Amino acid sequence: MKFTAKEKHYMDMESKYGAKNYHPLPVVLEKGKGAFVWDVNGKKYFDFLSSYSAINQGHCNPKIVKALCDQAHKLCLTSRAFYNTCLCDYEKYIHDYFGYDRVLPMNSGAEGVETALKLARRWGNVKKGIPNNKIKIICCKGNFHGRTITVITMSDDPSSYSNYGPLTPGFIQIPYNDTKALEKTLDKYGKETCAFIVEPIQGEAGIMVPDDGYLKKCYDLCHKHNVLFIADEVQTGIARTGRMLCSQWDNVRPDMVILGKALGGGVLPVSACLADDDIMLNIAPGEHGSTFGGFTLAARVAVEALKFVKDEHLTEKSEKLGKVFRAEIAKIKSPYISEIRGRGLLNAVVIKPHNGKEAWDVCLEMMKNGLLAKPTHRHIIRFAPPLVITEAQIKQAVKIIAKSIKSLE
Ligand SMILES: *Cc1c(COP(=O)(O)O)cnc(C)c1O
Repeated sequence: MKFTAKEKHYMDMESKYGAKNYHPLPVVLEKGKGAFVWDVNGKKYFDFLSSYSAINQGHCNPKIVKALCDQAHKLCLTSRAFYNTCLCDYEKYIHDYFGYDRVLPMNSGAEGVETALKLARRWGNVKKGIPNNKIKIICCKGNFHGRTITVITMSDDPSSYSNYGPLTPGFIQIPYNDTKALEKTLDKYGKETCAFIVEPIQGEAGIMVPDDGYLKKCYDLCHKHNVLFIADEVQTGIARTGRMLCSQWDNVRPDMVILGKALGGGVLPVSACLADDDIMLNIAPGEHGSTFGGFTLAARVAVEALKFVKDEHLTEKSEKLGKVFRAEIAKIKSPYISEIRGRGLLNAVVIKPHNGKEAWDVCLEMMKNGLLAKPTHRHIIRFAPPLVITEAQIKQAVKIIAKSIKSLE
């Protein structure tokens, strides 16, 4: 590929001075608006990654950016050592919004997950009476919950956990979308288990949509054994899948919900763990926290980010446009496409390698034609545009996808 001197400058600098823990698509962005981004040469692209669903409300959303800037001029950070004028509004707002007694605010998604695991273990110890050294948490193969040592302990992807040992004890992995496996594991370890943690759709695994009723059955099994059901909605939550929470597809109200990504409206890292008093109040002052968790600016931004989703009916939009997207993709006849799946605007196209070309080549071709998306797990391309995209834009984007795939045939 040929790059301009400007592009080369940015890419070379990053390559020279940054840790090599990512492999970006070779495009250098400098501007974003709604569903679009622009590179340093002024070329316009559809953003069909949305920073892994952190930009549901669209790039540089004017209402969110205004709230950010107004608050930034007033007060940004107090730490939790003092009260401030924004945190309480956010706590009340998210309580009313999702219907949980309390919120524990953090920053990254992984921290939200860590918080849920700590709350679960604490509850298991204090409320369920499991001895500390026995406590177990059940998780699913193929999961992605983040990158801290404890969180990667749950992963079965060697590139996530290899050579980072010793890992954290107390986890049991079972297959995803397999209620029998959960039943068997709970029959055996139910007494010592405090929680089951699951993604309502496995995002990083390649948008793995479980069978209808899977979450509900898991929830019921958990409750039969007095085990907490934790939904990691960091990627699937906040309207992404055509429901406010993806768990709602199965009419499940999880005991704990982890949010992140779009909670920060695409401008700040904001995560949260939601739970009721019985779980949340087992942690007392000084027993968990974060300097930035729930910081003044983040609290203000999160309210605006959630408000925008409701005001603009992004949940309904996501469900409707998801159907349009999948229907339009299904019309493309190509030896490269072996499957299209997803819910709302969280979708994946499975690419069958052909003529020595695979998902990465398709992404490079789409980039040339003005659409950005990235493979996950080599043969799967995730398509998850900002939820502010319009129906006409979806159709235009699918034309680009079709043209790109065709040109490789
Ligand atoms: C992205 C993600 C996380 C981790 O969030 P970070 O902000 O990257 O730490 C956790 N769980 C799920 C389901 C995710 O998609």
